[in-house]
Amino acid sequence: MPPTDLLGLERRSIRSRLGAVLQEPGEQRPSKATAKSEARNATIGAWQARWQATSKAAWTGCVVPDLGRWLGRTVPWVPLTFHMAQALTGHGCFQWYLHRMGMATSPRCWQCADDSDTAEHTLFQCVYWEGFREALTSRLGHRPNTIDVSDIIYGPVFETLPLDPIDKQAVLIEAEEVFKLFYRMVENILTTKEDEERRRQAAERPPNSPN
Ligand SMILES: [Zn+2]
Repeated sequence: MPPTDLLGLERRSIRSRLGAVLQEPGEQRPSKATAKSEARNATIGAWQARWQATSKAAWTGCVVPDLGRWLGRTVPWVPLTFHMAQALTGHGCFQWYLHRMGMATSPRCWQCADDSDTAEHTLFQCVYWEGFREALTSRLGHRPNTIDVSDIIYGPVFETLPLDPIDKQAVLIEAEEVFKLFYRMVENILTTKEDEERRRQAAERPPNSPN
């Protein structure tokens, strides 16, 4: 959902366009549907500009750089799971993030001792998780990387889909399969990583401490 203030502006702009006093003879007010869809496009444009300007969302901006495509995606509109949200925002079980938030002593990766355990490192670079990437790697024909994420989560651009219904269906099914493999990879890596993190923390705790 776009931010509330932008939605407020959008509603006001629709109202003022529909209620505007006509200046020219023969001038017509836009239809309600046109005014609504034009206002929504303006909202998405403003939202995207804001998104790109927000350094806090740097990782998300990297993988979801095009809000228009995100909202018009051709893969199934499944709700973001807890882990998928972590993967797309970079806010989760990543030592780099935990360290920045004061919840870890170092940004170092526990699995491979890399200096910086970011979402990108965990999902695409850390050798420790290589086995979890295999299915997606063989489907894509290459190791998945950050650049692949936007195509995977948006699906093919609607306008570029084949006109032939059977070809079109094949492209959409392929996109859905890749999308499911990506979801599964993210779930598997992050679930396992959290389990390992819990075990590691429990092992570090003095024997008599609570929890
Ligand atoms: Zn690592």
